[in-house]
Amino acid sequence: MSSDIVAAKDIPTISQLYRSKELRAIANPVVSTPNQKLNDKVCTIQEDITILEVDVIVNAANRSLLGGGGVDGAIHRAAGPKLLKECRTLDGCPTGGAKITDAYDLPSKKIAHAVGPIFDSQAKSEPRLRSCYRKALELAVEHNLKSIAFPAISTGVYGYPSLAAARAATDEVQQFLSEPEGDSLDKVIFCNFLDKDVEAYARHIPSFFPPTKEDLGSEDSSETA
Ligand code: ADP
Repeated sequence: MSSDIVAAKDIPTISQLYRSKELRAIANPVVSTPNQKLNDKVCTIQEDITILEVDVIVNAANRSLLGGGGVDGAIHRAAGPKLLKECRTLDGCPTGGAKITDAYDLPSKKIAHAVGPIFDSQAKSEPRLRSCYRKALELAVEHNLKSIAFPAISTGVYGYPSLAAARAATDEVQQFLSEPEGDSLDKVIFCNFLDKDVEAYARHIPSFFPPTKEDLGSEDSSETA
């Protein structure tokens, strides 16, 4: 990880990661038809989300929207006190929802504050986790923002197991990008901080965004098709 600003164009797409062999195909992906357009849009990076120069970063906020620990604290510290002032005007946000603010001293243009669930059972928590990914994506489209970066929402103090969270997030993003509304987004970035989440995304990205033949280069793709 670096402490300089990272521009959207310098964040690797999963197509590039397949081609450099940093990401590997899996045998039985959930999505069986590879899609080059999506593999050129979806990116993953292990980084501090506050240094990404993208149109909108997503905050894993709590319902008060008045700041907290983890990524929320890092975002408020880096954005400066004006962020809290704007957040006070929002009147909180329900679990599974998201609200947008300016980004103040951050290199991004906007912040989408998404409220993930405190992990309970998968049956109760997964629809709420999916909903906050979707709401953040919808906000990006609504505000004509083209690049969006997500942290691994709820996988910190909210206790959502990393693998299950990565599965729900990659599935929801894949579905959104396959819908007409998703066309207006250029980059969706999964920005992970801890190795456990990096590993969880390395497991699930190839399942929901399998590599195309071109991504695999000269390798025989018959085993993974
Ligand atoms: P939650 O309450 O939603 O669990 P946390 O902030 O505790 O929120 O954790 C959400 C995720 O954000 C975790 O995966 C954590 O490792 C990650 N995280 C913490 N700091 C940063 C950061 N600066 N940039 C990106 N991700 C971060």
